[in-house]
Amino acid sequence: MVKPHIHTLIRSRRRTICLTITENAQVVVKAPFWITARYIEDFMNKKQNWIIKKLEAIKERPKAKIKEYENGEEFLYLGKVYNLRIVPSRIPVKLKDELEISTNVWPKHKEAVKIWYQEEAAKIIGDRCAYFSEIMDCEPVSIRISNATRRWGSCSARGKLNFSWRLVMAPIEILDYVVVHELAHLHELNHSRRFWAKVKSVLPDYKEKQKWLRKNEPLLSL
Ligand SMILES: [Zn+2]
Repeated sequence: MVKPHIHTLIRSRRRTICLTITENAQVVVKAPFWITARYIEDFMNKKQNWIIKKLEAIKERPKAKIKEYENGEEFLYLGKVYNLRIVPSRIPVKLKDELEISTNVWPKHKEAVKIWYQEEAAKIIGDRCAYFSEIMDCEPVSIRISNATRRWGSCSARGKLNFSWRLVMAPIEILDYVVVHELAHLHELNHSRRFWAKVKSVLPDYKEKQKWLRKNEPLLSL
């Protein structure tokens, strides 16, 4: 294994040294002005195994293919793969054995597919929120479907929940994890031990779901 090196070194008035690996496998080190190059080198040596592990995990992640919207192309819906089929139809987008897109929607086909996913997400996430709200004895003030890319869900201090429509591409148990996570914030607006205990009481294997999301995140996109 090649020794990892720093892609970006940012010096600032910060007080501690910090290391992050970006989504595209770049090693970023933030360091105070006063820290020597030697110190940074030692720091990198100490962190070497951790960095290598992280970089390998990024390499193993499935890569998202840019969609061309051609017949036979694969689209995910609730964790299942559907092939795209371009058909003459009055309905813009419809899911059968395949994901059917009407010839009429061109050239706004991308928008049409996105709208369809958003509508599906609103229905399914709404249903799952209702189901788990009852189990968890809580009630969100509102549920909104967002366009967020890196954030699957959020919960405001006032109890408003947001969910990314991209979740509807994931298997239902993964979507459920994000729903349960955000609903648990209605009890605990933090990531304390009590919060995770709450999540675990509903989904004992939630850690597996987290892992799945981290690994497969690139697939949940158009
Ligand atoms: Zn959270």
